[in-house]
Amino acid sequence: MIIIMLGAQGTGKGTVAGLISEATGIPQISTGDIFRKNISEKTELGIEADKYISKGELVPDDITVPMVDDRLSWDDAKEGAILDGFPRTIEQAKKLDEILTKKGKKVDLVINLVTPRDEIIDRMLTRRVCTNPDCKATYNIKLHPPIKEGICDKCGSPLKQREDDKNADAIKKRLEIYEEKTSPLIDFYKNKGVLRTEEISISINRMGTDVAKDIVNDIKK
Ligand code: ADP
Ligand code: ZN
Repeated sequence: MIIIMLGAQGTGKGTVAGLISEATGIPQISTGDIFRKNISEKTELGIEADKYISKGELVPDDITVPMVDDRLSWDDAKEGAILDGFPRTIEQAKKLDEILTKKGKKVDLVINLVTPRDEIIDRMLTRRVCTNPDCKATYNIKLHPPIKEGICDKCGSPLKQREDDKNADAIKKRLEIYEEKTSPLIDFYKNKGVLRTEEISISINRMGTDVAKDIVNDIKK
């Protein structure tokens, strides 16, 4: 089953994807995580990608698309994948369709997460990530804090704020790019009949854990 996570930054895509992955065994493939791992390991791909990421810009398709294509060919993705952070443009969505068609697959479900704007900014500022590139668990110091302050529950490594979450200009830029380039994907997938929109907000007391639970129940039906 191929699942795509859609939604602006800070809506909780990574958290929801992680929970669905844990419950179903379908691997979570996060392009942002793959880039950050490469940046921390100073690989050629990481050095190139960081030029764009540090400014809040999208990494060009000639880097991103082959990276995803390759990752989808790994053994663990034979039965499916939860794509988190890809596609982000109509172009990428079309390329994804080509990649999947070659593998005899298609996009089965697109989970579109929606959160009010003021909550989004707040969440990006309070987000913390595990510094262990093989763990990369995400926390929120207000909504979903680790048991021990500054330490990852899962692996014990220190937590830190993402570089692009510290930079207010980069945050603004990412949200603008989301509106302009990524939000058209909502209609793209609605037209294919695979879109499922879920609101996550404190105002309706519905958080990522609630959404993940409902989706997992439906998948397992
Ligand atoms: P966010 O959702 O907060 O932007 P991600 O972890 O998904 O965070 O991505 C971090 C950065 O990695 C993005 O700002 C962008 O520069 C780059 N990136 C991630 N996925 C893609 C993609 N599909 N296409 C281009 N760039 C990407
Ligand atoms: Zn960790």
